[in-house]
Amino acid sequence: MVDKVGLIYTEEYQKYNFGKDHPLRPLRLKLTYSLMEKLNLLNHERLTIMSPRLATQQEIERVHSPQYVEVVKKLSENPEDKSVVSYRYGLGPGDNPIFKGMYEASALVCGATIIAAETVWSNEEFKISFNPAGGLHHAMKDKASGFCIFNDIGVAIKHLKKLKEDIRIAYLDIDCHHGDGVQWLFYDDPNVLTISYHQDGRFLFPGTGSINEIGEGKGKGFSINFPLLPGTFNKPFKNLFRKTAPKLLETYAPDILITQLGVDTYYDDPLTQMGFSLAVYRDIAQTLKTSAREYCQNKWLAVGGGGYLMTVVPRAWTIFLARMLDVELKNELPDSWIQEVKKSVPFEETPYLLWDRGEKVEVQMLSHPEVAKQIIDYTKSLIEISNEKFLPNLGKA
Ligand SMILES: [Zn+2]
Repeated sequence: MVDKVGLIYTEEYQKYNFGKDHPLRPLRLKLTYSLMEKLNLLNHERLTIMSPRLATQQEIERVHSPQYVEVVKKLSENPEDKSVVSYRYGLGPGDNPIFKGMYEASALVCGATIIAAETVWSNEEFKISFNPAGGLHHAMKDKASGFCIFNDIGVAIKHLKKLKEDIRIAYLDIDCHHGDGVQWLFYDDPNVLTISYHQDGRFLFPGTGSINEIGEGKGKGFSINFPLLPGTFNKPFKNLFRKTAPKLLETYAPDILITQLGVDTYYDDPLTQMGFSLAVYRDIAQTLKTSAREYCQNKWLAVGGGGYLMTVVPRAWTIFLARMLDVELKNELPDSWIQEVKKSVPFEETPYLLWDRGEKVEVQMLSHPEVAKQIIDYTKSLIEISNEKFLPNLGKA
């Protein structure tokens, strides 16, 4: 049986770059590719590396307003252009600085996710595709937000809808931040189910993603949110994820699964306050893989997302790719990669293992048993909410 995995990659991804002081550094993609290569995943017989293309303006405008697209284009050509009130479009000093070439850099990420979508949708040989540069889930119709200029996920969903008008898509987002952009774009659409697991919006950007955001109009019941307490650690999350994600996907039974694999839930991530260790991502990957095969027509499109430690993101996404290929990796890192990291990220602690076992997190939690108990009880209540509120709504699909 042919069961191929497509990895969409190019050096050109480095051009999506907000500058050296910005937390979203394209270096993380380079180090990811390098680690995958050094662990021999890239020459695996089931893996095909594919080059992306630029999304056309027409494809981007299926999601974004022509006015916003023109603004991005104009500032991309001339970042100094004073005729545009850039902050109205979320662009400028702060989260989304203007940089030369940002239109093309963003169109490339969209094009890469389109290629990834086409690969699993139209090519029978491929069951999984992965665009680590994608996952720009905060971008809105009329504005940039949270390091995201164009919403590549939204653009790919619209593309799939062109290929099959009544296609049913499940979008599942594990980034630490709520997948707001994708949720709002398809909030009234029953054919796009959005599920987001994230740090509670009361404590983190973008502030949304409460359990009461369930969709509207015909889309009512097709937006699902699991806001998590800061400090949520591996064990309760694994329990929550295993007991909710597969069931929701089985009930909805989509034609394809799209996942956003942000890994800023890592306990040491500088932008968030969650408590995951790297080991959890293997578990998540396995659950997603099985769910895609059993409940989503064996079609899984994966994109990247957040993650702001240059030594963590590469390891996490390598763990995901290994699961996609059914490769069992050892808990060690190639010496050549360790040297590369020492050189390119001297300001981060050098890792020597592929995954940490989460001892640091567990120890922290054991020293605060009352906090740990609160988190465990709360995640259990989310399972109940999912069974009693979210699932029955989906059953009406
Ligand atoms: Zn994030």
